[in-house]
Amino acid sequence: MQDQALQTLKSVFGYDAFRGQQSAIIERICAGNDALVLMPTGGGKSLCYQLPAVLLDGLTVVVSPLIALMQDQVASLEELGVAAAALNSSLSHDEQREIAERLRRNEIKLLYLAPERLVKPRMLAFLQHLPIRLFAIDEAHCVSQWGHDFRPEYLQLGQLAELFPNVPRIALTATADTRTREEIITRLHLQSAECFLSSFDRPNIFYRITPKDNPRKQLLDFLAQRKGDAGIVYCLSRKSVESTAEFLSSKGFPALPYHAGLDNNLRAFHQKRFLNEEGLIMVATIAFGMGIDKSNVRFVAHLDLPKSLEAYYQETGRAGRDGLPADAWMVYGLQDVLMLKQMLANSEGDERHKRVEQHKLEAMLALCEETRCRRQALLAYFDEDMPEPCGHCDNCIDTIETWDATEAARQALSAIHRTGQRYGVGYLSDVLQGRENDRVRALGHQHLSVFGIGKTLNDHQWRSLFRQLVARNLIDVDVEGFGGLRLSESCRPLLRGETTLLLRRDLTPQTRPTRSASQASQLVRSHEREMWESLRTLRRHLAEEHSVPPYVIFPDSTLLEMLREQPEDLDDMAQISGVGARKLERYGAAFLKVLNQQESAASKPAPSSQDLRHELVTLARSGMTPEQIAQQMQCSLKNVYSLMAQAIAGNLLSLEQALDLPEELIGQIQDAFLQSDGELPSVASIADQFTPQIEEGVLYCVRAALQAEFGSIV
Ligand code: ADP
Ligand code: ZN
Repeated sequence: MQDQALQTLKSVFGYDAFRGQQSAIIERICAGNDALVLMPTGGGKSLCYQLPAVLLDGLTVVVSPLIALMQDQVASLEELGVAAAALNSSLSHDEQREIAERLRRNEIKLLYLAPERLVKPRMLAFLQHLPIRLFAIDEAHCVSQWGHDFRPEYLQLGQLAELFPNVPRIALTATADTRTREEIITRLHLQSAECFLSSFDRPNIFYRITPKDNPRKQLLDFLAQRKGDAGIVYCLSRKSVESTAEFLSSKGFPALPYHAGLDNNLRAFHQKRFLNEEGLIMVATIAFGMGIDKSNVRFVAHLDLPKSLEAYYQETGRAGRDGLPADAWMVYGLQDVLMLKQMLANSEGDERHKRVEQHKLEAMLALCEETRCRRQALLAYFDEDMPEPCGHCDNCIDTIETWDATEAARQALSAIHRTGQRYGVGYLSDVLQGRENDRVRALGHQHLSVFGIGKTLNDHQWRSLFRQLVARNLIDVDVEGFGGLRLSESCRPLLRGETTLLLRRDLTPQTRPTRSASQASQLVRSHEREMWESLRTLRRHLAEEHSVPPYVIFPDSTLLEMLREQPEDLDDMAQISGVGARKLERYGAAFLKVLNQQESAASKPAPSSQDLRHELVTLARSGMTPEQIAQQMQCSLKNVYSLMAQAIAGNLLSLEQALDLPEELIGQIQDAFLQSDGELPSVASIADQFTPQIEEGVLYCVRAALQAEFGSIV
């Protein structure tokens, strides 16, 4: 069974190994048992039922909530040479009849259905006569009445258990919270299903959250290094969606608007363009997202704050489904907080509901003001413990400074109190800094004791302080009034001097580190650009010819591997991840031709080892682990260690920058090398003491560091 599964994985899907728990899940399904699969977006859920569908003789019925998703999957399967079909309302009667005929002749392996169609008595009766071997229920969280994707039709899927008692069922979702999980189990009658819970970390996503000062300029700076990448920019209002899309297009970043106020046809057209074209930016309200399967979304940018961490995780999760480096980038400011609090106050619903929403917003704000690793904080919110900081978020690679804001906060609170709890940040900082303008004079506030007590901070710093006080709920916003600030109950201990307050120091534009993940997240190095574009052009032509989105022909990860591996013939090509037998036969030659043509025409020099070493040093210094670097540079871990050792020997990199290992362990390895006088022993001669627990590459690095320090004679 295992062998057969692996073989199919390679020959049909073109992949060499299973990811995460895929293998265990597939084994369980093929043995005829139920399973519940909780895996993050991009984790590889589809394979968990598509591969069994290919292996088992008979039919797999897949329940999926959106027509667009079904069509995408059917197209992808057909490209792999797997017979699949979707029955939905977009088909004519004749087309539906033809699919029914093919099903009767047992010519289809996977049938996609919307839940409402599946549970129609006629459909159920029809299915009873087919050799169904598996039911897959995708997006199973739609059964939860508490979630935002609730679909009443999903509730009826429970009957499958009684109607098809001998057919195993697999339910899949990217929503992990316990409550949803329990609802899926009860409502779909999956009590005997084994639950496969994966980590919800998305290691390829780099998180950055920055205070908003000039959002458009900040966005342009962020995009500057991402020309030609596809991405999503989320805004809160339709108006800002429209104006941002226009602005980006005028700056040479082709962008389309998407929001619920657009005419249906136009909206569908923009979505289609986003899926089918390369390098488009979708500027959208949250109306855009569900059912976006595009695998090469390289970034998700938020110009406004989402209202919960659930929303933030889901929206940012649309980046990097293909596993290649991607960015989640956000700017946020006091105005966002005020706006969301206002929306919350005006929203319908009872007090209890509002309190829940309030807590969710506070958790979101806490992530924004977080001073420790963002990924740890995000995962902790979803009850997942990550023992070490990730090394791949802004807080991990920038040095985050905090400052004792106790005194300043008390001044701010007094200023709010003394001016009658009705003014906004601008006015309050005028008072604190002692600016005697017309308004101040008219109100007589120049005579207050707080007037001018805060001259040590400037406008920027007061704004940052007020924002953080609101985020921590130490001050409240009078949302019914004019957005004036008020003291909240929880600020009393601070006012009375019973607690102190440490706040995050905002980076001003001058102090903002130049080093960032932005370089790191660029997929293609400059000398590879031309070839990359040729490969993408060929892919686009083939996609148009076959009327499918380009990533259905090959995902970016596969093109990138072609670019790096430079296959010379079809045998080489078959080794590339993502090239299965059918695609090899259809497209292999065309891509080889492009690869070889370019090589002879331009004979671009391959990246020199010096270039590679330079890139490696940059990545290592930014705090990435050797594993992350290997993924980033698309080379083996062994290669990374070897380049690291060279860089260390050349004094370009310190051992601490290269390796993240306990000092004690490094000490032990050094001792092993230094045991005898004379020539520094070779790695091979001490390796048994440490491998396989320690990567051999680590030993090379330690040896290189000793060499850099002492020369080769010790
Ligand atoms: P999900 O539905 O969980 O969001 P997908 O099923 O769309 O994720 O898979 C994400 C990407 O990973 C797809 O491009 C898929 O082809 C790829 N993938 C899945 N399993 C593997 C594997 N074992 N090896 C390599 N790539 C894989
Ligand atoms: Zn981190």
